[in-house]
Amino acid sequence: MNFTNTQDDDRGWQDEANCLGVDPDLFFPERGASTREAKEVCRGCVVRLDCLEFALVNGEKFGIWGGLSERERRRLRRQRAITTRRTASA
Ligand code: SF4
Repeated sequence: MNFTNTQDDDRGWQDEANCLGVDPDLFFPERGASTREAKEVCRGCVVRLDCLEFALVNGEKFGIWGGLSERERRRLRRQRAITTRRTASA
């Protein structure tokens, strides 16, 4: 993973990333290519949740972050938005 384009200052968790030194291309596969290898790296990562939250908060649109693909993160964002609306109207 290449974290150089990130905007958040609170990035200490990136020092613990399992993907440090791993080919960043693995995390940005061509459309339709397998995400399995990247997700395997993420599976054993101790900062997976930090990484996922970072991607969600910063609206990262591309790549595997926190073990989730763009589509999976979009789905998670939608689910959270629904939960937030329900909680607010309860
Ligand atoms: S969850 Fe995956 S992409 Fe995120 S820091 Fe860990 S290994 Fe890298």
